[in-house]
Amino acid sequence: MTYQLILSNAKYYLDDHFYTGDIAVENGRIAAIFAPGGAAGLAAERVIDAGGLTVLPGIIDSHVHFREPGRTDREDFFTGSCAAAAGGITTFCEMPNATPPPNCPQHLRERIAMAEEKSLVDFAFLGAAGFDNMPQFQPLLDLGVVAFKTFLDSPPKGREAEFAGLTVADDSELYLMLEAAARTEGRFFFHCENSPLIKGLERHLHQQGGEENSFHYLSRPAVAEVQSVETLLRFARATGAKIGIVHITVPESCRLVRQAKAEGVDVVAETCFQYLTYHHGHIDQYGPYAKCNPPLRSREDMEGLWQYLLDGTITMIGSDHAPLTLEEKTVGEREGIWRAFSGFPGVEVMLPVMLTQVNAGRLTLAQLARLMSENTARLHGLFPRKGVIQPGADADFTIVDLQREYTLSIERMYSKSKAINKLFDGQRVKGKPVYTIVRGRVLMEDGVVDTSGRGFGRYLAAQR
Ligand SMILES: [Zn+2]
Repeated sequence: MTYQLILSNAKYYLDDHFYTGDIAVENGRIAAIFAPGGAAGLAAERVIDAGGLTVLPGIIDSHVHFREPGRTDREDFFTGSCAAAAGGITTFCEMPNATPPPNCPQHLRERIAMAEEKSLVDFAFLGAAGFDNMPQFQPLLDLGVVAFKTFLDSPPKGREAEFAGLTVADDSELYLMLEAAARTEGRFFFHCENSPLIKGLERHLHQQGGEENSFHYLSRPAVAEVQSVETLLRFARATGAKIGIVHITVPESCRLVRQAKAEGVDVVAETCFQYLTYHHGHIDQYGPYAKCNPPLRSREDMEGLWQYLLDGTITMIGSDHAPLTLEEKTVGEREGIWRAFSGFPGVEVMLPVMLTQVNAGRLTLAQLARLMSENTARLHGLFPRKGVIQPGADADFTIVDLQREYTLSIERMYSKSKAINKLFDGQRVKGKPVYTIVRGRVLMEDGVVDTSGRGFGRYLAAQR
């Protein structure tokens, strides 16, 4: 027989350890793992000598916004998945922000079809959950959404269609929604920031004329997150709902999560690579281009977050890839940072930035593999198809060269919104994804994406 692919001399991750072997792939799955040299002489369509490199289970981005349908001027499933492949990502979890959002089976099915037509890499979806679509929670779970996402605010004026079924307007709606959530087996993630507090602070700061870049983080202080997390944890405890907090940023929020977990609340926390590596100083320096929500925090909060990453309080790391047009950022340079849209497209820089942290000794490569692949796959019902290198699993590999130093450059990025990535442009990193392999197919090699893989990606329904 002829194997589809053999990775020879592969140092690979499994269960907190690294082993060396020859990995053979057949029909998109891992067929066998031999001792080093054990696959020598076996026939394969392609052999990659992985000597000197490290093979990670395909990295999963737990949090992206690829904008389709609705804002394909910012990104779409083709360009977004090219950026994912470029960044060593083999599976992305798409957030429910779209127009229309996936707030019912019909909208979800349409979205799956769009992604299947265009995506290079595999993908899962979070459903939209809000006070207005509670009867849809179970039908969406039946279609395989890995979780749900909700915003704790009314839709912004003029953007009602974009937020239909994605919001709870106040505590009463949150409480009733969580009661409905608790009657399902789904997990419900929340963007935790106290909106009335933030809106009030913005008003006061404007009256004082504060138009500096610091406006962004002064109007969205850490306590806005902490208080929101605290309320959510109380409500989850009262209702029994399974919850999650996306992009947690503040050590004090993490402490509350850790305490709630110990007391039996079923809660998980996700953070994003930018909250581990960037801080207020970057907002001061880069202005709109470092603006995201929640904001980058103080250096002390950034450092404090690491403790909760390493002690297991935080389950996974995502990018919150949030593409925007250049105009949506430059307006903040002309008229004040408060006018700029929030977010930046991080899916293709997250892994090299985190590998740089591995090289700096901040976390081990095994911890990275757990936080960026294994844990995410387990949490979302994708394990053991994804998130593990063992026979029977999908042959998804992110092969990295830990020694490779290079400079991140907008010129080599694939996101449709790469022009706004000034925060990362020119940054030196150490540790490079050199192959992205999905179900045995090489989709990226040394930073170059094989765009003929358009449509190769498959929808992943959660197994519960
Ligand atoms: Zn997001």
